[in-house]
Amino acid sequence: MATSANIGTPGTAALVPPAPGAAALVPPVPAPSALGPPAPSRARPELEPEPSGLGERILIGTFVAVPMIALLAAIPLAWGWGLGWHDIVIAVAFYVIAGLGISMGYHRYFTHGSFKAVRPFKIALAVAGSLAIEGPVLTWVADHRRHHKYSDAEGDPHSPWRFGNDWKALTKGLAYAHIGWLFDPNRTSQEKFCPDWLADDDIRRLSRWFPGLVAVSLLAPALIGGLWAWSWTAAITAFFWASLVRVAFLHHVTWSINSICHTFGEEEFEVRDKSRNVNWLAILSFGESWHNLHHADPTCARHGVLKGQVDVAARSIWIAEKLGWVYDVRWPDEARLTGKQRAGRSRKLGSMTKRAVRSPG
Ligand SMILES: [Zn+2]
Ligand SMILES: [Zn+2]
Repeated sequence: MATSANIGTPGTAALVPPAPGAAALVPPVPAPSALGPPAPSRARPELEPEPSGLGERILIGTFVAVPMIALLAAIPLAWGWGLGWHDIVIAVAFYVIAGLGISMGYHRYFTHGSFKAVRPFKIALAVAGSLAIEGPVLTWVADHRRHHKYSDAEGDPHSPWRFGNDWKALTKGLAYAHIGWLFDPNRTSQEKFCPDWLADDDIRRLSRWFPGLVAVSLLAPALIGGLWAWSWTAAITAFFWASLVRVAFLHHVTWSINSICHTFGEEEFEVRDKSRNVNWLAILSFGESWHNLHHADPTCARHGVLKGQVDVAARSIWIAEKLGWVYDVRWPDEARLTGKQRAGRSRKLGSMTKRAVRSPG
């Protein structure tokens, strides 16, 4: 295993952006100067060919599949004595609330401003996202804006390409992008990356209340399960499945966007990083795995813009728009996106696309 000495630390100078704030919302192409001089021993990921070795694919597939299979195998074993329909219903409900909180709220609204929201809905999105236990709004937004600014280059908090692109370096990079980066002691500057939300009293307060919201996320399923069946055992099984397993599952799905969606999948749109569209993660991630389009057009409210690409978060934004909870939604723009499709590709854009000039609501 790697020691901390050879993992290295990201260049601190590169972590401090010259132009913060709104600049972080616009396309993710890192300025060459931000990359620093290329070290001779260190690969420049954007210049290297796509890795497609069978070994790497088998390895990541194993890491993803084996724990999932173990979890699925536990379900019939536990059925009837440690797991019941109540647990499944509560787990799915909390998964959807927290997952949409991350996808619609933390990511598309708070990080990228893909739409505007009325105050109660803004608060609801921040609370729902907090239930995912992925950190307070301010931390998440700051990290993610930094990711876009330096995407797959020096300064990106979680690029799988940070150690190079040979087989060993990529294996280490995938583990780092998935989970290792969470332990990096370098914290993203909130003053630099999210001054907009730092100035918002509601969001500052909700960020401070994050530990309380974590407690709600863990205890509410137990309370609901216990009251529903009126038993302590039901409270415990609901806590196990709808709190612990549900949180772990959503964590892995979110982290997969950082690891898998920057390594494997389709490059349907022109990007200068390694972001890719991964169709098999689309439903579980509420559309977040259409990550290649997202890097090509970060403020777009719909990530699965092509016909047939399921994007539950985009449909939820569409419903919220009809209800008047959100407005000024940045729906896919045909004129802008057609030019971004890679040469030789001309798949049709899906619904919610603005076919003519931009018009409000
Ligand atoms: Zn990304
Ligand atoms: Zn993003």
